[in-house]
Amino acid sequence: MLTITDLHASVGDKPILKGLTLHVPAGEIHAIMGPNGAGKSTLAHVLGGKPGYEVTGGNVEFRGQDLLALEPHERAAAGLFLGFQYPVEIPGVSNVQFLREALNAQRKARGEEPLSGGEFLKLAKDKAALLKMDMEMLKRQVNVGFSGGEKKRAEMVQMGILDPAFAVLDETDSGLDIDALRIVGAGINAIMRAPDKGVLLITHYQRLLDVVKPDKVSILAGGRIVETGGPELALRLEAEGYDSVMA
Ligand code: ADP
Ligand code: MG
Ligand code: MG
Repeated sequence: MLTITDLHASVGDKPILKGLTLHVPAGEIHAIMGPNGAGKSTLAHVLGGKPGYEVTGGNVEFRGQDLLALEPHERAAAGLFLGFQYPVEIPGVSNVQFLREALNAQRKARGEEPLSGGEFLKLAKDKAALLKMDMEMLKRQVNVGFSGGEKKRAEMVQMGILDPAFAVLDETDSGLDIDALRIVGAGINAIMRAPDKGVLLITHYQRLLDVVKPDKVSILAGGRIVETGGPELALRLEAEGYDSVMA
């Protein structure tokens, strides 16, 4: 589903990703762990096509397409979802408006009919319930005045509504208390754990991986994947730190 081959990328003139290779087949949840500054968020931004992140080598194939040749909105329409550590606020726009426009823009790009207001609300209620989020919250402005946990849950409602084939989630667990972590983790499982979907789950902590059980765990350090293993690799990191693994 996602095959990254010898990817090199720079921010400004600084090389950050230095030959990163990673394959995530359909049906797999692949956790990425690694020390601060390793390039994890850079990888997420490069996959999303964020301006300022320059690919200087390698390639990325996503569902049989050359991902790097697509514009960010085309990547989204092709089924790629990105969740970020610091979701943005959009004053003056309600979550419901924002989500409906995002969904219908993607449907249009895929040649599908837009959802009517009624159809959309039914879908939104469904996904909000999954994330234990009150519909009243979704009528408020996007992320304005939301707590950290509410922003993350709103983002997962967005993911549920867009129903992507692949999600890249960058520290979705950061700032969540234990209850919110369980809700968000269960939401990720419900939305993304499927034979035809895939996830790159960037995290520092085992506690998210206790809920969203990864099939594989890779360590990103110095702009490359330095080790890949099963869930036990995350447990070893938790117990021994990165030095033990990278020594
Ligand atoms: P991680 O998410 O693994 O902690 P990042 O991808 O955020 O790491 O950062 C990798 C490196 O790239 C760090 O050294 C960071 O300082 C640098 N970096 C990231 N974004 C920028 C930027 N916009 N401008 C300059 N340097 C950046
Ligand atoms: Mg970081
Ligand atoms: Mg980061």
